[in-house]
Amino acid sequence: DLANRMAERAVDVIKFLMKQGQMLKATDVIDADMAQLIAEDMGHTVRRVADSDVEEGLFATAEADSELVRRPPVVTIMGHVDHGKTSLLDALRKTNVVSGEAGGITQHIGAYQVELNGEKITFIDTPGHAAFTAMRSRGAKSTDIVVLVVAADDGVMPQTIEAIHHARAAKVPVIVAINKIDKPDADPTRVRTELLQHEIFVESMGGETLDVEVSAKTGENLDKLLETILLQSEVMDLKADPRRVAEGSVIEAKLDKGRGPVATVLVQRGTLHPGDIIVAGSEWGRVRALLNDRGQTVSEAPPSMPVEVLGFQGAPDAGDRFAVVETEARAREIADYRARQKREKIVARQTTARGSLTEMMNQRQSSGLKEFALVIKGDVQGSVEAIAGALDALGTDEVRARIIHSGVGGVTESDVTLAAASNAAIIGFNVRANKQARDVSERDGIEIRYYNIIYDLVDDVKAAMSGLLTPER
Ligand code: GDP
Repeated sequence: DLANRMAERAVDVIKFLMKQGQMLKATDVIDADMAQLIAEDMGHTVRRVADSDVEEGLFATAEADSELVRRPPVVTIMGHVDHGKTSLLDALRKTNVVSGEAGGITQHIGAYQVELNGEKITFIDTPGHAAFTAMRSRGAKSTDIVVLVVAADDGVMPQTIEAIHHARAAKVPVIVAINKIDKPDADPTRVRTELLQHEIFVESMGGETLDVEVSAKTGENLDKLLETILLQSEVMDLKADPRRVAEGSVIEAKLDKGRGPVATVLVQRGTLHPGDIIVAGSEWGRVRALLNDRGQTVSEAPPSMPVEVLGFQGAPDAGDRFAVVETEARAREIADYRARQKREKIVARQTTARGSLTEMMNQRQSSGLKEFALVIKGDVQGSVEAIAGALDALGTDEVRARIIHSGVGGVTESDVTLAAASNAAIIGFNVRANKQARDVSERDGIEIRYYNIIYDLVDDVKAAMSGLLTPER
C-alpha cells in the first residue's frame, strides 16, 4: 500500500526495510514512524494526519433543541423461533401500510413504515437479534423499541431470553407481544409470570413494561400493538432535526443485476435527497434515486424513513453508518481511508487473534474499562449457573466479571454478534461453536475460549482480571 501510494515498487520498500534490519513481506504492517522514514528517504513529503481528522465533522454531535421535531419510532421484532415474528411483520404490514399514495406493490427492502392515525412507525423487516446486534456492533443504534414476541401456547423459551439480553445490552425498551392468543391452549398469564424471572415486569404484574395480547393469524389487537408502540415512543420523546444533511445506517445492501449496487438505508437525522453525495463504510456514491418500501420514487427521505438508495459505486455492508458530504473528493477520501483501515484491521487480527484473555484485558486497560464482559455457553444449566456464581465471587471494588448472556447449548452466531457489540469474550463450557459462529468470530476478532474444567476457567478469568489491575505497561 505504501509503495503504491508513493508510486514506487514494493520491492524497493522491502529493500529499504531490510537495510533497517526488518525482514518483512509486502503484506506485513509497519508503523507510522517507519512509514514516514521510508517515504522521506525516497524523497516524498509526509503530512501526518490523525485518524480523527479524516472523519472530522462527518457525523453531527449535538443538535440545537429548537431544530428538533418528532420522528417516528424504529422497531425491531425479536423472539423465539416459530413464535410468530415473520407472521406479525407480515400482518402489520398488510393491515396498515402507509396510506395516501394509491398502488405500489410492497417491496421487501429490509424495513417498512405503517401509519396509525397519521402517525408513522418504522419496522425493521429482518426479525431476530443477529441483525439487530450486528448493527449495534458498528456503533449504529438504529432501533428505538424492541417488540418481544412470545407465543402464548409455548411461553418463554431460550431465544426469548436471548432477545431480552440483546435488548437490555443495547438499553432499548421492550414491548411484549403475547402472540397466538387465538389458540385454544393459549395461556397469556403464564407468559407474564415466566417473564418475571427474567426481570421483565409487565404492567398487570406491577411493572412498567407494556404488553399486548395479539394474534398475527386473525389480526386481533394489531392496532392496539401499534398504539402501544406509539405510546412508548411518546414517552421516549424521539426527535431529530430534518433540516440538516442526512445521516443514518445501512439496513441491507446488495448488487442488483439491473440497477447496480442498491442499499436500503434508515435516515436517522436530516433529510436525504437525490443528488446528495453519500458515504457508507468504505463505499460512496451520488444518490441517483430514492425508492420507498412500495418501490415508488420519492424526492426526499426524512428521519426514520427507510429508503432504497441507487447510485453507490459498490455495495456497503449492513450496519455501516452513512453520512452525506459536500464533495466527491471528500467522499472518496473517507471511503479510501476506511477501506485501508479495514485491510489493516484484518491483517492485525491475523497476527493477534490468538491472544489470551489477559492480552485482551490489557487492550481494554487503555479504554479504562474495569468490567470483564462475558458470554457463557455451557452443556447443562447447572454448570452455567455454577460458573456464573464462581465468577461473580471474583468481583472486587475495582474489577468484576459481567455476564451479559448465558445459556445452554453451543456457541452461535448470535452469541458472537452480542459479544462483539458489547466488547465481551465468549466462554464455551463443554460445548463448541458452530461454523457460522466461528466464521463471525474470526471476522470480528472475538475470542472464544473452551473449557471443560470449571476450576481452569475461573483461574483464567481471575488471572485476566488481575492483569487488568496491574498492567504490564
Ligand atoms: P417466526 O419463526 O418467529 O418468524 O414465526 P413464524 O411467523 O414463521 O410463525 C411460526 C408458525 O406459527 C407459522 O406456522 C405461523 O402460521 C404460526 N403463527 C404465527 N402467528 C400465529 C398466531 O397468531 N396464531 C396462530 N394460530 N398461529 C400463528
